[in-house]
Amino acid sequence: MQFYNGLSRTKEEFVSLRPGTVGMYTCGPTVYNYAHIGNFRAYTFEDILRRALELDGWKVKQVMNLTDVDDKTIRGSRESGKPLKEYTAPYIQAFFEDLKTLNVQPAAVYPAATDHIPEMQALIQRLFENGLAYVSQDGSVYFSVGKFPSYGKLAHLDRENLRVGSRVANDEYDKESYGDFALWKAWEECDGDVVWDSPWGKGRPGWHIECSAMSMKYLGESFDIHTGGIDNLFPHHENEIAQAEGATGKQFVRYWLHCAHLRVNGEKMSKSLGNFFTLRDLLQKGYTGREIRYVLINAHYRQPLNFTFDALAAARTSLARVDECVDALTSLAGTEKADDTLPEWAQTAQDAFLSAIRDDLNIPEAFAALFELVRGSNTAIKDGALQPSGAAAVLALFDRLDHVLGVVRFGRAQQEEEIPAEITALVEARAKARAEKNWAESDRLRDEIAARGYCVRDSKEGQKVKKA
Ligand code: AMP
Ligand code: ZN
Repeated sequence: MQFYNGLSRTKEEFVSLRPGTVGMYTCGPTVYNYAHIGNFRAYTFEDILRRALELDGWKVKQVMNLTDVDDKTIRGSRESGKPLKEYTAPYIQAFFEDLKTLNVQPAAVYPAATDHIPEMQALIQRLFENGLAYVSQDGSVYFSVGKFPSYGKLAHLDRENLRVGSRVANDEYDKESYGDFALWKAWEECDGDVVWDSPWGKGRPGWHIECSAMSMKYLGESFDIHTGGIDNLFPHHENEIAQAEGATGKQFVRYWLHCAHLRVNGEKMSKSLGNFFTLRDLLQKGYTGREIRYVLINAHYRQPLNFTFDALAAARTSLARVDECVDALTSLAGTEKADDTLPEWAQTAQDAFLSAIRDDLNIPEAFAALFELVRGSNTAIKDGALQPSGAAAVLALFDRLDHVLGVVRFGRAQQEEEIPAEITALVEARAKARAEKNWAESDRLRDEIAARGYCVRDSKEGQKVKKA
C-alpha cells in the first residue's frame, strides 16, 4: 500500500516495522463536549485506514486516547461546577455511542490521560536527563525547543526565519508564535482540584505529553502510523515527536497521515466558530448513521470536504441503489454455494477497488468500483446471465469490499424493521404527553405500546421503538 507521509510530503510504499503487523495511534477526542461531525470525519478516515490495511492482510493494533484533562476540559468542569471526572464521563459515553452509530470499529485500547500521569512524569524525567526540559519560575516544566535541532521536521518549519516566541503556556498556538511548550503545568487557582503531585511540584500535564506517553506505552518507542486531523499536525504532533525522540533518541513514528477538514461554507467546522453539527443533531433530523458515514468517507481524505444536506440526500439515493442490487442478488443466490471464480466484470471491479484503496486510500475511486459492481450485477441479472452460485460469489465480493467501506450491510436491519402506523401514532401521543410533563399518560401509553408487542426507550435523541 502507498500512503502520503506527512514527514516526507510524498507518497511512500508502506513497510511496517514488524512483519505483518501495524501499530497505529490515533489522537482521540477531547471530552469536553459532544464531538461534531468534523471530528467524526477524522475518526471515520482512521477507521477506513485501519479496515483497508486489514483487507490488505495486515494485523492492526490501533490505540486511540481520550483527552480527559487539558485546558478545555478543566475550563468546562469549572464552569459546570462538577468535578473533572464527573464532567467528562457523559461525553466519553456519548463518544462511544456515536462511534457505534457510525459503524467505526473499536480500537484495541482507549487509554485515558488521567490514568497515565505516572507514565507522563517518567517521560518528562527522561527529558530532564537529556537536558531538554527545564523548570520555569512559576514551577511549570517546559521543553527547550532551541536544544532540539530537528524540531519542526513534520511541520517543515523554517526555523531561521521564524520569530521564536519565548514560551507558550497554552496547549494550542500557531506556527508564528512557537516557542518552548509546557510539559507540566504548575497548579493555578483555576485548576481547582485537578492536581497531581510531581517531582517539580503540584500540577497537571500539558496536552502534548499525554499522547507521547500513551502511544509509546501501548505501541512501543517506535511504531508505524500516527494519524489525526490536519489541525493536529502543528503544534500537537510536532511536539509529540520532540518529546518522544528527545527522550528515546529513536524515530518515534514512521508514517504521519492527516485528514483535511470537514468544512461548512468554506470554513472549518469547529466548536469555536459555532458552525457545527453533532451526530445527534443529524440523527434528530432523520438521517441515519449509515448515510452520515457515507458522506464523511466519500471524499479523498486529503481533500477538504464541504458538508451539505444535499450530500446526505444523495447518500440516501446511492445507498438505495446498492440495497436494491444486494437484495436482487440475495434472492437470486438463495441458499446456493458461491462459485470459486467471479464473473469477469466483477473481477474487474474488485481489481479497481483494491488498487484504489492501495493508492493512498482513494475512497471516491473505490466507490466508483463498487458502483461498477452494482451496474454489472444489475445488467447480468436483467440479461439472465447470472446463475445462483454466481450471484452468491458476487454477494461475497460485496461483503469483502464492505470490510473497508462499512456501509453496504451495516444499518440495514434497523431500517428494514417497519414500525406500524398505529404504533407510531401512540409514540407521537406519548411524546406530546412527555412534553406536557404528563407522566401518568406517558406511562399508560408505554404500557399500551408494550401490550401491542413493541418496546419504547427514552434517549437523548427522543424515543426509540423496537419490536419487543
Ligand atoms: P479534538 O477533540 O478537538 O482534539 O479533535 C479531535 C479530532 O478531530 C482531531 O483529530 C482533529 O484534528 C479532528 N478535527 C477537528 N475538527 C475537524 C474538522 N472540521 N474536520 C476534520 N477533522 C477535524
Ligand atoms: Zn494526540
